[in-house]
Amino acid sequence: MTLTVIDPATEEPLAELEQAGVEEADEAVARAKGAYPAWRAVAPADRARLLRRLATLVEENAEELARIESHNVGKPIAGARGEVGMVAQVFHFYAGAVDKHFGETIPAAGGEAMTFREPLGVVGLIVPWNFPLNISSWKLGPALACGNTVVLKPAELTPLSALRLAELVLEAGIPEGVVNVLVGKGSVVGQRLIEHPDVAKIGFTGSTEVGRLVMRGAAETIKRVTLELGGKSANVIFEDADVEKAAASAPYAVFDNAGQDCCARSRILVQKSVYDEFLDRFRDATGRVKVGDPSREDTEMGPLISAEHRAKVASYVDAVPHAFRGEVPESAGFWFPCTIVEATNDDRVAREEVFGPVAAVIPFEDEADAVRIANDTPYGLSGSIWTRDGARALRVVRAIESGVLSVNANTSVRVQTPFGGFKQSGFGRELGMHALDGYSEVKSVFVSTEE
Ligand code: NDP
Repeated sequence: MTLTVIDPATEEPLAELEQAGVEEADEAVARAKGAYPAWRAVAPADRARLLRRLATLVEENAEELARIESHNVGKPIAGARGEVGMVAQVFHFYAGAVDKHFGETIPAAGGEAMTFREPLGVVGLIVPWNFPLNISSWKLGPALACGNTVVLKPAELTPLSALRLAELVLEAGIPEGVVNVLVGKGSVVGQRLIEHPDVAKIGFTGSTEVGRLVMRGAAETIKRVTLELGGKSANVIFEDADVEKAAASAPYAVFDNAGQDCCARSRILVQKSVYDEFLDRFRDATGRVKVGDPSREDTEMGPLISAEHRAKVASYVDAVPHAFRGEVPESAGFWFPCTIVEATNDDRVAREEVFGPVAAVIPFEDEADAVRIANDTPYGLSGSIWTRDGARALRVVRAIESGVLSVNANTSVRVQTPFGGFKQSGFGRELGMHALDGYSEVKSVFVSTEE
């Protein structure tokens, strides 16, 4: 069976690929299992050198990778370049981390107690279509640094950058079989990885719904799982904030990647006293977002990933009044305009992850009300607080049930800081030194010193 990969900005085919099935998934796991003993035995400095070479190759091929990602996902080229830059940084970081993730000695009677960090074995990495290369690197970096071998399953819609990365892995000198890319359906090859007895862990990013399936399937073989799932993050603007700055940056916090971002601040909570001022400024700023051909240097927002996804996004806002609706090209492509709606936190648009360029603006009374609304969601991934009051900022970040928060900024992701969710946004942490814990086991050893 073949798979046609589409450019969402033109609806033109980009590639025709063979689709793997269960048999190919089993073969990939067998290759990874075969490569494991030698890979885990590579001396730390050599493993670090190989990862650093991979990082350098990503840098040297950055423009090509960015163009692949831009065409396959419909991402503006400037953003795609930034993402590829992060991929290189991720491999540099984990190259440096290889020999800085170590065990302990622990006081014990009658001998010496110590811990070792052991790799897990073969790990299955299942990634989504919104940030294909970035999210692959967040999992590959720590998995390889810890000495695991990998079967990476990109999303069917966006496999092209992972396939190119697999070539760079070999060019870097990482042995055959250490990284295996499997192009196929989640319900077939993804499911097989989850069930496979030789796969020790699944690192998953995607919907909460499929996350549940991963967790359920992993129970059979007591697989380790890390789940990075959906979000419905709040951008909380207090009356003492720099409202102008908060409103100017709010569009990029929700419409970036056409809103197809698990960290999208898609619920904008605004204190009533500054609600009208914020909404006016937010509308103006949204009207300036440049939507169009992703290959143009100044484009800020491209299309959605597919016609099916566009229909899903439309279902949230087609029947409700809009506070603002932007413009989109009339040419082919899965375009959807930046859309602002005024909402309550009980509306469907505020409760479910839309995963498109749709912002729900919700008023609140005071600090307690803001925290209550921010937490009134099954998700807990990201969010922002805008205030000039430092004590309030700290009170509110501690009170919001979310894994990643920023104050007077909209950032969620840094190479060196942990990333992951509370509640139904998942568990386990990616990035930073924390990610290494998810790709290793702690082994405790006691050595008797009695004569
Ligand atoms: P999915 O969760 O379906 O896809 C994520 C990955 O899981 C893909 O590689 C997919 O494979 C794979 N997959 C799908 N079904 C299974 C299965 N039964 N067993 C194992 N793997 C499976 O997300 P979608 O792409 O369908 O997006 C749906 C919604 O999920 C979005 O609208 C958004 O709300 C949310 N989402 C959240 C993301 C995040 O970053 N947190 C990322 C992407 C989506 P394939 O698609 O190739 O068949």
